[in-house]
Formats: sequence, structure tokens, C-alpha cells
Amino acid sequence: LRASLMRLPEPFARDGLLGVVLDDRTQNLALDRMRADFVANASHELRTPLAALIGFIDTLRGPAADDPVAQQRFLEIMSGQAQRMRRLIDNLMSLSRVQLTEHERPRGVADAGLLAERVAAELRPLFATRDQNLSLDIHSGLPQVAADTDQIAQVIGNLLDNASKYSPAGAHVRLSVEAAPSASVSLDEPLWSALPGVVISVADDGPGIAEQHIPRLTERFYRVDESHAGRSGSGLGLAIVKHIIGRHRGKLAIESTPGEGSIFRVWLPAAAADAGRASQKYP
Ligand code: ADP
Repeated sequence: LRASLMRLPEPFARDGLLGVVLDDRTQNLALDRMRADFVANASHELRTPLAALIGFIDTLRGPAADDPVAQQRFLEIMSGQAQRMRRLIDNLMSLSRVQLTEHERPRGVADAGLLAERVAAELRPLFATRDQNLSLDIHSGLPQVAADTDQIAQVIGNLLDNASKYSPAGAHVRLSVEAAPSASVSLDEPLWSALPGVVISVADDGPGIAEQHIPRLTERFYRVDESHAGRSGSGLGLAIVKHIIGRHRGKLAIESTPGEGSIFRVWLPAAAADAGRASQKYP
């Protein structure tokens, strides 16, 4: 809060009366601060692979100029670093697109079960290369959800990608989609799962996440363990998930037990009865 003393304007100014002007800049300052932090974090994340690329270019030109074996090895590392930069830029663009549409209601309607099947089919080769098992449990009778299908596919994709990326070879990941409220809903379930909609969950038997990190996972650039840095992450995946779910008026719940695994649950509200009618074709 900024306070400044000023001479009052006409018609209040009398006998040199002074007034105090209170000016709440706290919110603007916090926003400016967030923007500056974001730019600083993004630049830092881009700088690391870029510094590696510059270093390897110098080595290829100098000490490794006549060493074809070293050249091959360095080129491979450089390709990995360049891909890391590309992923980061893609994620930054994704986050900014999601934030731009955040205040618009999603126009389409989607069958979350079909969507989950499509994303799982796309990611199956990734699970196979890591010797991991992906199982699907899509319930019948799911209500339609009001959704931007590409964005919900991105949510499912990011959660599956994390479940695979942070779990070892041989891990089991289960993607399920069920109608909410489910018949099996228990008192331990979050309250929102009792409202009509669908619950998409991704469960893994990977390393799990310590409790103190869970509330911070959806912050931009937050990563539990920097030693994960090699694992193609940017710390933006769950921030994107959070913004998309927010736009869909949905909820995200994360439960995890270190040493046992994690479960990420997304609840999306059922579409209003007339939603998407405009896009349906009538004879
Ligand atoms: P990243 O690009 O690093 O994967 P995310 O925002 O998707 O970023 O995830 C944030 C952090 O949460 C990750 O760096 C990882 O430490 C942790 N995390 C996310 N999903 C899982 C999971 N299924 N198992 C264990 N840790 C996870």
C-alpha cells in the first residue's frame, strides 16, 4: 500500500488543506513479480541446454576436430540437448495458449472414455520401449463432458507420460475412466467425486512422491528432484494440466505413497443436457 500526501484539487482545496492518497499497488507488484520470475525461470531452463550446445560446438571445432568417435558421441548428446530445448519451448507455448483460453468456456463435448483410449493407443509404443505395462479400464455409461478435446487429450497424455517417465522398467500404469459419482465412492474420496461427471485416473506403482511436494507439483517449473533433470522434464507438465482443468471447471487430486506409487485423479463435470447441440447434425 502506498500513501502519499497531496494538496487536494478544487473544489476541496481550502486553506492549503492536504489529503492523503492511498494507492493499492500490492496486487500489481505481485503480478509483475510473477511475470519477472517466469521469464527468469524460462530463460534459465533454456540457458542450460544452450550452454551445453555451445560447449560441444567449441569442442568439435577444437580438440575433437580429428576424432570421429568423439564427434559421433558429442553429436548425439547435442541432439538430446536440442530436443530438450524444443520440448521446453513447446511446453512454454502450450502453457501460454492454455492461459489465453482460460476464461473461455470449452465449446465442444467429448466422450472421455474414447479420448482416453485414443491417447493410450498413441502412447503405447512409449510404454513398450520402457518395458512398462499400460492397462485400461473404461467404464460404460459415461456422461459426456463439456470439453476442448485437444486439451483433455493433453491432460491424459501429460499424466501418462509422467507415470511412465518417473517409473522404472516393469512398472504398471493403469488409466481408468468412470462415471462420477461412482457406486464405489467411499468417505475417503474427495467430495467433488460425488458430483455428476467423469473421473479420469492415472495410477502407477512407481517411486511415489513425498507429501511435502504434493501441493507444489502444479507450480510452473517445480520439480521434486533436480536429479530428474536428465529425464526430459521441464516442470511445466502439471502446470499445464492444472490450467486446463481449471478452464473446464474440473478438479485435480493427487495421492501418493513413497515407495508404492502415485494416483492422479481428474474430475470433469458432466456437460449440460443441451451442450454441443449446435454441433450435432439433425436429419
Ligand atoms: P516434468 O516436466 O518435470 O515432468 P511436471 O510438472 O509434469 O514436470 O511434474 C512435476 C514433478 O512432479 C516432476 O518433476 C516429478 O518430480 C513429479 N512427478 C510427476 N508425476 C509423477 C509420478 N507419476 N511419479 C513420481 N513423480 C512424479
